[in-house]
Amino acid sequence: TIQVRSLRKSFGHKTVLQNIDLDVASGEVCCIIGPSGSGKSTLLRCINGLETADSGVLKVNGEDFGYYETDHAYHALSRKKLALQRTRVGMVFQQFNLFPNMTAQENVMSGPVLVKGQDKKKAAARADELLASVGLDGHGFKYPAQLSGGQQQRVAIARSLAMDPEIMLFDEPTSALDPEKVGEVLAVMKDLAKKGMTMVVVTHEMGFAREVSDSLLFMDEGFVVERGDAREVLGNPQEARTRSFLEKVL
Ligand code: ATP
Ligand code: MG
Repeated sequence: TIQVRSLRKSFGHKTVLQNIDLDVASGEVCCIIGPSGSGKSTLLRCINGLETADSGVLKVNGEDFGYYETDHAYHALSRKKLALQRTRVGMVFQQFNLFPNMTAQENVMSGPVLVKGQDKKKAAARADELLASVGLDGHGFKYPAQLSGGQQQRVAIARSLAMDPEIMLFDEPTSALDPEKVGEVLAVMKDLAKKGMTMVVVTHEMGFAREVSDSLLFMDEGFVVERGDAREVLGNPQEARTRSFLEKVL
């Protein structure tokens, strides 16, 4: 589960997240939509500890994540504790961010070996399993440059899954892909959702949101403008701002 309360984040004088509340239950898929610059990536980056919020509550599976707030003060958790917490939240980016000098298999096993100190043979076998589960059986020896964008993104998903995360965050995972490669990545994500993974997905793929997502959040200028059941928000948005955004993207 993810619990966010009154989360705020500024860069310099610019407040990027204003009072964000968000709840994602275990096994829930939550899609976030909104215009460019509305704070979607910043919110995801806070949830996996790449950014630290300025104030507010952030809990992952009931545990304070990265820092905790008391009435009078704001306390950072230790680096070691945060590093451990971060292994529990996987993140997939728009630009696949694979290590270019490692094969697909080495990319997938890198986390377990380098961060968790897992035995290499075991990690390699698990990497092969994970690659097979994202439709890349037999591609483990290839380098990222030898793979299509859709294949690279599926390796990136397998690499995140190798850490056995409890939650997966996706930041526009298909936006950098050729249109005909989008489906293969969405199919892997759909499969993951079916297996009960808790997921937060920033996306412009309204079909995916409608079909797979439980809840939907529309953000604008650092605010959550509207939230609710995904099909309800998409089919019958209550806020004028949501309606005008959806008219442009649907
Ligand atoms: P997009 O759809 O284009 O990806 P977004 O909704 O993900 O947009 P963010 O990337 O979260 O938006 O950015 C929100 C605002 O915060 C933008 O105005 C952006 O310029 C600003 N911002 C993001 N990261 C930083 C940073 N590291 N330093 C300063 N400003 C930042
Ligand atoms: Mg973004």
